[in-house]
Amino acid sequence: EPSVIIKKLLERNIFRNANQEISSDVAALVLEDLGYTAEVVRVRLEDTLPVEKRKKLVPVPPVVTVMGHVDHGKTSLLDYIRKSNVAEQEAGQITQHIGASEVTVNGKRIVFLDTPGHEAFTAMRARGAHVTDIAVLVVAADDGVMPTTLEAIDHARAAQVPIVTAINKIDRPDADPDRVMAQLAEHNLMPEDWGGDPLKDGTICVPVSAKTGEGVEELLENILLVAEMLELRADPEGWAQGTVIEAKMDPQKGPVATVLVQKGTLKKGDCIVAGDAYGKVRAMLNCKGDPLDTAGPATPVSIIGLNKVPYASDILRAVPDMKRAREEAERFARESREGRFGSRPRVSLDDLFSQIQKGDVKELNIILKADVQGSVEALSQELEGLSTKEVRVRIIHRAVGNISESDVMLASASNAIIIGFHVQVDSTARAIAEREGVDIHTYDIIYDAVNEVRGAMEGLLEPITEERLLGVAEVRALFRSSRVGTIAGCMC
Ligand code: GDP
Repeated sequence: EPSVIIKKLLERNIFRNANQEISSDVAALVLEDLGYTAEVVRVRLEDTLPVEKRKKLVPVPPVVTVMGHVDHGKTSLLDYIRKSNVAEQEAGQITQHIGASEVTVNGKRIVFLDTPGHEAFTAMRARGAHVTDIAVLVVAADDGVMPTTLEAIDHARAAQVPIVTAINKIDRPDADPDRVMAQLAEHNLMPEDWGGDPLKDGTICVPVSAKTGEGVEELLENILLVAEMLELRADPEGWAQGTVIEAKMDPQKGPVATVLVQKGTLKKGDCIVAGDAYGKVRAMLNCKGDPLDTAGPATPVSIIGLNKVPYASDILRAVPDMKRAREEAERFARESREGRFGSRPRVSLDDLFSQIQKGDVKELNIILKADVQGSVEALSQELEGLSTKEVRVRIIHRAVGNISESDVMLASASNAIIIGFHVQVDSTARAIAEREGVDIHTYDIIYDAVNEVRGAMEGLLEPITEERLLGVAEVRALFRSSRVGTIAGCMC
């Protein structure tokens, strides 16, 4: 029943009504909540639709997020791509910052989300939004694979988003692209040239320079190639639906929201609702700052006309009239208030066993942080070795370092627990874990960590409360005594 599913989503703080979409990983979590196991397979959208709807689908451009280690050139690459595309726009035009940009390569569009990094990506995902089709992993050719590079790979993988690797800074004398490829392969991201499948465990690697522009064209072409393999399609007809990417209060224009339209076509004058905000599309601008009357699938637009600022990751929908828009916004506000105080059944060591018994948990996702690489390796092996027929232990991210905000968001998005060994929990991470209901455990002894997880899986941590009646007596009278206190006269 839709109501059952909506309630399960609410418990996870994801607000959707029966007409809205959820991403495959959210669907998998909900199915787990309901006692099913989900396997995510890629199907072509066409194959799931009746023929007359299938005919309406059109190819849509990919939406790309750039990720990678700090200073490896994410911002520079995005800037270069945006600037080099200016040639295709009218000269002298200033691109607006709306949180997303579009480029055209050989007549085909690519949409870039302007906030680089896997943190923003996973934060959106934790709120149930799925906007990114392809991740571009930037690795500096002189620096090589760094901890954040590996983190980005794990975050993209957990979301099942294919990765295209840009090996950047090849203009530098000490650049060594081959070494980067070897490092990626070592961490199970196999370059396509060496046999990796770009849609599964592999990645297409393109050497580039964000400074000279060398290889950038080829990078864009390869993004389009992967997009083609993904066969991204959408229906441009019907009521528009999209995701809020960015929103702010503008002193002149009021609330301004950047929305990636994902299906249908949004028109000027449409009544819209996004989270608890509603209104009418008064004006719509594309990333070049041009006013638009309509925006079809995979178009980022900045919208003026909402009554308040929505949140990034809120779903925006066009509805038939203003009354409906207001009602839906009010319902959202009501439900999110209730949801916020409701329980969120996340996986936790304390009730892992009962979740396993109920069949709610088939995979225990763990994020593992430790002080040194040796401990990371040792603990990973031990923990994965705890897998049983019923429950597979899966380390979705392992790294050296303290438990950070981004670990907590990944745990929240992937229903994982976090295990730390000889590490601290950052204070913001702790606060967010509390809010998101993410379970964190830290240990100083490997044996303790392994034992506790094993115990949790076997139900040994379950507190056993048992009352045994030894006899019953009824108090008939009380006698006060200054020497021994109160004496009860009883009938057994
Ligand atoms: P981000 O932190 O990943 O966004 O990295 P930035 O884009 O801020 O780049 C970090 C530094 O590397 C800056 O000083 C850039 O000028 C420099 N940089 C970025 N890309 C290249 C490149 O391709 N070649 C060279 N030589 N320097 C680059």
